[in-house]
Amino acid sequence: MSENPFQIFVRTYTGFAQCIQTHLSRFIAPQEHQPSKKHPSLFSIQSKSTLSKDSIQLKESPSDPFPLAEGQSARPLSKEELGRATWTLLHTLAAQFPDHPTRQQKRDAKELMAIMSRLYPCKECADHFKEVLKASPVQAGSQAEFSQWLCHVHNVVNRSLGKVMFPCQRVDARWGKLECKDRACDLQGITTNFSK
Ligand code: FAD
Repeated sequence: MSENPFQIFVRTYTGFAQCIQTHLSRFIAPQEHQPSKKHPSLFSIQSKSTLSKDSIQLKESPSDPFPLAEGQSARPLSKEELGRATWTLLHTLAAQFPDHPTRQQKRDAKELMAIMSRLYPCKECADHFKEVLKASPVQAGSQAEFSQWLCHVHNVVNRSLGKVMFPCQRVDARWGKLECKDRACDLQGITTNFSK
């Protein structure tokens, strides 16, 4: 049985989070690239380390692969943090959308946005996004079309929140594909060979 769009969304989100976690762990302790036996991708987060940007000390807890920053307790995300993380996922997804998507990929993009408008964990945002989608239906005929459409709807949300409008001609400069060796993260679309 094929996966439904929500499963694809969850899988994409999980992969994306793991990728960021891996890069973050390298950033935290570049000298300690010794994979742990239990959690190979989380090795350097397990040791006492310092985030150079914010000087956040991580607690030393060799048995806990998910330590909290010193002085922090587990807390829910704010609406703003969730929004930034979600836009990061969506714009990166759009940057990586195939130039020639399959019919299924076009359907998935539409379904993903419809699901967002129903399940996004901020009811006010989800309800507003439903209205935005009604006024600006998803356009996912190509990578360029999808990323421009997403920029447009993000701007609709920006405007409603009194934020500055983002110049959509700069969307490719702001958001790009994931840095994956040998383009291993690229999605496959329809390959069209125009040369005979
Ligand atoms: P964000 O808007 O989160 O943007 C992150 C980064 O994206 C920016 O720093 C900028 O570099 C870039 N960017 C900004 N605009 C664009 C664009 N148009 N195209 C490409 N890149 C851009 N919050 C509410 O309070 N009420 C709502 O109704 C609401 N609805 C939301 C609906 C959705 C679907 C999502 C994902 C989020 C929603 N949010 C809502 C959260 C809100 O949009 C912001 O994410 C949050 O306020 C944090 O804003 P920010 O200024 O940090 O930047």
